[in-house]
Amino acid sequence: MGPIWRSLGAVLLGWLAAADAAALCPQEQQRARASAARIAEEWPAVPGGDELARYIQELGERLARVGAAGRDIPWRFTVLRDRSPYAFAIGAGAVYVTEGAVAFAGSESELAAILAHEIGHQLAGHFCGAAPDAYDSVGRRQDPVGGLVQVIDPHKETEADRYAVGLLREAGFDPRAMREVAKRLPDKPEIAGRRLTALHDLLGRLPPPRRIRESDQFRRLRGRAAGP
Ligand SMILES: [Zn+2]
Repeated sequence: MGPIWRSLGAVLLGWLAAADAAALCPQEQQRARASAARIAEEWPAVPGGDELARYIQELGERLARVGAAGRDIPWRFTVLRDRSPYAFAIGAGAVYVTEGAVAFAGSESELAAILAHEIGHQLAGHFCGAAPDAYDSVGRRQDPVGGLVQVIDPHKETEADRYAVGLLREAGFDPRAMREVAKRLPDKPEIAGRRLTALHDLLGRLPPPRRIRESDQFRRLRGRAAGP
C-alpha cells in the first residue's frame, strides 16, 4: 500500500474516531422516541422476528460496530412495509429502510451503503442541536409520515457519504457501492451532482476494495422484498 493510500486510510479512520465523543446529544433520545412513535402509528413495519428484519438488524450492526466501537448507541434498524425505495434516520441510533429499498439495492454492498449512509448521519452528530426529525438518503416521500420534518442538506449528505465509505470498507463491503446507490437516486440534480463529485474524488484516492463478502441470504431476501 502506497503512502497516499495509507494516509487516506488514516483519514478515514480519523473520521470514524472523531465520532467517538459523547454517544448521543441532549434531547436526542426524547426526540427520536417521539418520531418513532409517530412512525409506528402510521407505517406498518416488518415484525422484529421476521428473517428480513433480523438480517437488516445484523447487517446494520456489522457496519455500526466498525464506526461506533465503545459508543453506547442503541442501534435499531427497522424494515417498513413499503414498496417505494426509502431510507432515513431519526437519531438515537434508529434507522429505517423500506422493503422497496432492499429491492432497490443491486448487491449486498449497495444495501450496506444505504444503511452505512444513515449510520453516517448518526456518527457525524447530525441529530445534535436544532436538527430535523429525519435525514433521508433514498427517495423522498411526498407525504412525510406524521408530519416529520425531513431534510436533505447537501453538506450533511456528503459528510454521511464519507462516513459510509469508511464503514463499508472496514466492514468488508465494496465502498464503490455508495457511488452506485447515489447515481441511481432520484435526488435533485444539484445535490446528486455534488454528492457524486465528492464520492468520485474520495473513491479515486482509495486502494482497491478488500475481499468483499456478500451473502446468499441477501439474494434470497431481496427476491422476497421485490416479490409479487
Ligand atoms: Zn442522507
